[in-house]
Amino acid sequence: MTNLATPYRTHTCGALRGDDAGIDVRLAGWVHRRRDHGQLIFLDLRDRHGITQVVVDATESPDAHAAATRCRNEFVVTVAGLVERRRPGGENAKLPTGGIEVRARELTVLSEAKTPPFYINEPDAPVDESVRLQYRYLDIRREPMLRRLLLRSQLVEEIRRAHHANGFVEIETPILIKSTPEGARDFIVPSRMQPGTVYALPQSPQQLKQLLMVAGVDRYFQIARCFRDEDLRGDRQPEFTQLDLEMSFVTEETVTGFVEAMAISVSRAVTPERPLQQVPFPRFTYDEALERFGSDKPDLRFGMELTDLGPLLTDAAGAPASGFRVFDETLAAGGRVKGIAVPGLADASRARIDELSEAARRYGARGLVTLAVAAAEIHGPSLKFLGAERASALAHRCGAGEGDLVLIVADRPAVVTDVLGRLRVDLGTKLGLADPAVLAYCWVDRFPMYEWDAERNGWHATHNPFSGVVPEDEALLVTASGDPERPSPDDPAGRARAMQYDLALNGWELGGGSVRIHQRALLERSFALQGHTRASMRQKFGGMLDAFEYGAPPHGGIAIGIDRWAALLADQATIREVMAFPKTSSGSDLMLDAPSAPDPGQYAELGLRYVGFPDPA
Ligand code: ASP
Repeated sequence: MTNLATPYRTHTCGALRGDDAGIDVRLAGWVHRRRDHGQLIFLDLRDRHGITQVVVDATESPDAHAAATRCRNEFVVTVAGLVERRRPGGENAKLPTGGIEVRARELTVLSEAKTPPFYINEPDAPVDESVRLQYRYLDIRREPMLRRLLLRSQLVEEIRRAHHANGFVEIETPILIKSTPEGARDFIVPSRMQPGTVYALPQSPQQLKQLLMVAGVDRYFQIARCFRDEDLRGDRQPEFTQLDLEMSFVTEETVTGFVEAMAISVSRAVTPERPLQQVPFPRFTYDEALERFGSDKPDLRFGMELTDLGPLLTDAAGAPASGFRVFDETLAAGGRVKGIAVPGLADASRARIDELSEAARRYGARGLVTLAVAAAEIHGPSLKFLGAERASALAHRCGAGEGDLVLIVADRPAVVTDVLGRLRVDLGTKLGLADPAVLAYCWVDRFPMYEWDAERNGWHATHNPFSGVVPEDEALLVTASGDPERPSPDDPAGRARAMQYDLALNGWELGGGSVRIHQRALLERSFALQGHTRASMRQKFGGMLDAFEYGAPPHGGIAIGIDRWAALLADQATIREVMAFPKTSSGSDLMLDAPSAPDPGQYAELGLRYVGFPDPA
């Protein structure tokens, strides 16, 4: 065992066992709990490693007893004394040290403590998150938060081990750089030495890691801090940590093969009690993931796959013929009709069905058609149009059995996918279909290279501006007009697929990466399709384009969100629970009170003046 002895302690508060009875020890830690029985005072002494019971007897050690009388919870003390076995019946089976106690000979208060704003020794007591964040140093003293930080530390340790065992070099890249776009807003830092200019904080080390491949590093990784100045919707943080890696002379399979083996070994080491649902990880194309799960980060812990009902609603010639106007009109207009079978919900109340329809509308559908498969018959408001036979065929095709409820959405293809995908996840969670213990990893690949941006009237990279194109799609990197400056939504480029892969875990995107374009000419062609002129390419990516003229190896990589990964492994709903010092949704650090107004003179030194925002009126 690691020796953690210092002048303040011979052992930690978690170390002593029955076999240690009879030895003289010194401990140091916080008073976790104090029980005063007059002549005898019991102190539970706590540090990161555990809790040890200390007995202070007034007749044996009057000075120590006087000091213990003064002690309150969270005082920091050091105690010297003899380890004794507890009397039979007095053991505490819940504590690893529960077989012994230390009889204090000497006790010194190292520092006093005010009454904390919440109980440290009652980890389950509900505490408002803003109070926890303001007193995070106290929150981290509590066992659950400490346990999660230890898990995170082990996660990173295992990640490092796997990389070093596979020829990776850990390299730090700078925080003050030039903008590396990942689709978010940059944080900028004004330069004092070069007035009027700014650094950007990296949204990711993307360009730097690619330059390390040009530099011949071969395999790089970093536990990298990334910064994105976004409104903190959902579970985002302005700064977060990625496992960032890049490899040379690789195909998509080389990268995903390494990452998969690493993810398996890391998961097994950090959470040995959690089974992996499927190894090797299942792999879906982007199209297939959307078609079957309505999501490009499918949760595979439960079924409820999306089923295409079109074939049952058309005649032999493919014309809509269901007799149900909503379905027929949708299909005639190029829309789709798809459904999911929700287990055990056939007897859902009217109110419950209304709730589901309301959710479907909120997600963008015009409505929701439901079919309940009860013992003897199928029922639902649409039955009078569809007829019992067709309704039964539809339910059957969705895989519904007795007692199940079929939810059908008829709409534009993208709406159908999205709405059913969300309902699937909502219901999977609400009905407890997803086993919380299981880790279901999967890969999604073959993403489209570009997405049409209607506002800008042009294409932008769906993931990363440097992603390579699937070789057989290279010819598609053109516009219909032949001029990249005159794009249109029907351009062949919109059909080109990227050598991009995402890793998903239990319905969350854990990370993504790609094999990159390593030839300057092709990269410029892709940049042009993303709306860059020669001048803007130079300005934004000049350094990298130049580097690619000095021999760039084929390379690819990935970045994986450490915060998200730790949260999922620790079974937490938010990444804040696995971050030591997260910010609130308005980007505040409640403990240190950041952001705050600069010191007088700081603006002046930078040649800046705060002019505020113009009055919106
Ligand atoms: N830089 C990308 C990201 O942060 C990941 C990658 O392509 O390696 O999302």
